[in-house]
Amino acid sequence: MIKHTKQELLDGLQKMGIVKGDILVIAADLGEVGFTEGKLQDVIMVALLDAVGESGTIIAPCFTNYYFIHEIDKEDVFDIQKAPNSGSLSRIMLNHPKSHRSLHPTNSFVAIGAKAEEILKGHDENSLSYDPVGKAIDLNAKMFLIGCVASSPGFFSVHYAQQALGLTQKRFLKPKREVYYKDKNGEKKLFIKKDFGGCAKGCYKFYSHYVVDGGLTTGWFGNAYCIIMNGKRAFDVAYKILKTNPRFALCDDPLCGSCRASWSFNKRDYIPYYLRKIFKK
Ligand SMILES: [Zn+2]
Repeated sequence: MIKHTKQELLDGLQKMGIVKGDILVIAADLGEVGFTEGKLQDVIMVALLDAVGESGTIIAPCFTNYYFIHEIDKEDVFDIQKAPNSGSLSRIMLNHPKSHRSLHPTNSFVAIGAKAEEILKGHDENSLSYDPVGKAIDLNAKMFLIGCVASSPGFFSVHYAQQALGLTQKRFLKPKREVYYKDKNGEKKLFIKKDFGGCAKGCYKFYSHYVVDGGLTTGWFGNAYCIIMNGKRAFDVAYKILKTNPRFALCDDPLCGSCRASWSFNKRDYIPYYLRKIFKK
């Protein structure tokens, strides 16, 4: 059985051009990394933090549940200690003594490093979901996918481009959008979500455009295939495409309710979608 050492993982990161001082916005499937010498989570964290150094920063999504209006769970109150449902990397990062987490009730982010507080500052119930991604891009961050190139949300710069174009607020049907949270005074309040990243199964469509742009680098983190790109370049690619064709990021599934029947910029799919649903029954 091959066990990856911390040094091997670090070498992989450096081969992808990651240097001290880098800011990485990461989406990861750590199950793809393989076995490591030592506890997987410890080896991974040490490798990532060593690669960016004291002056660098790593950021990951730390998203949590929200509910249909009629199904809201009064016990499920977002607070900063709450476990995220967006993967093992964010859980591992939250356990790090130097981690910071933003206060957005559904789309918080976790960050560790020199710019962590600056990037997460002010991201709360009054913010749009992907604001920290925009701040990181402004600070010259790189978008980084570990082991989830085919299955992931894609680069978060796509969601930030959707947000910058106002598309994340163009959800026509928004039934599932509420959760309770505690405000700064500890008072329990209802959060009503106003923006949505939507289905992420169409994010792969941008990959060939990143390759054409020339900014995409590929590599390995253990057994996990990775892609990495300067955030501003990745954002520019997505923004340019989505500006002329907001439907570009939608997936190909004819029965995907999120893509086919919830966006005001995709009304053409509503009727075919409901006809398909009826005939499928
Ligand atoms: Zn979809």
